[in-house]
Amino acid sequence: MLPDLEFCCSVFKENGLMLTEELYRKLDIYAEFLVEYNNNVNLTAITEPKEILVKHFVDSILLCKEAEIPENASIIDIGTGAGFPSVPLKLYRNDLKLTLLDSLNKRITFLKELCGRLEIEADFIHGRAEDISKTTEYREKFDIACARAVANMSLLSELCIPFVKVGGAFTAMKGPGEDISLGYNAVRVLGGEIEEEREYTLGGEGRKLVIVRKITQTSTKYPRNSSQIKKKLL
Ligand code: SAM
Repeated sequence: MLPDLEFCCSVFKENGLMLTEELYRKLDIYAEFLVEYNNNVNLTAITEPKEILVKHFVDSILLCKEAEIPENASIIDIGTGAGFPSVPLKLYRNDLKLTLLDSLNKRITFLKELCGRLEIEADFIHGRAEDISKTTEYREKFDIACARAVANMSLLSELCIPFVKVGGAFTAMKGPGEDISLGYNAVRVLGGEIEEEREYTLGGEGRKLVIVRKITQTSTKYPRNSSQIKKKLL
């Protein structure tokens, strides 16, 4: 399914990453299962092998090159969809403790089957982030909350920051076009502080990674319920 090992190695190398034969084998299983499952359940618009390699796998794994993710960190991927960015990241960094959250159960069903095939451990949560982060089991329990392509910076902050422990980080993977400053107030109100906005390129396209440090606990007022969030962003 994926292009050959030599080609994939060169793409990883160009992006400052290492590809082992074992990782290549697992990513190949992932790509094949993704495309097969996507025929019946909508998971991704990206189905061409080279694009899966770059826009899903390398893009996801770059998170641990661009952000410092401590060893053995617990990481929750909010709105993970077909597992991006955290499943490729877990294949690259097996020390990470992974939790996958999505509001669509058909995606969680796919992820359970995928992780079984890839022989990786993960916890799975079906639900809306704004409901799940209110539970004591998950509130302020993670070293890292990550998200790619889920919502604008303000809304995403309200969905993600409540999951993060004080001292931990929220990492938002963004395209080049979004005005991140529209989320600055939400970040502050939710107990975070922008640590860095990193810009880099992937296959000639711009990428932005926003790293938010959690500096104080999130007020129990947040997150609000989804209709309140939609009515007025922070
Ligand atoms: N992160 C993946 C990626 O980069 O390919 C999927 C992105 S997809 C555009 C957005 C995902 O977020 C969908 O799978 C959707 O079900 C999920 N989602 C949207 N709002 C959510 C919420 N409030 N709580 C949990 N999941 C949510």
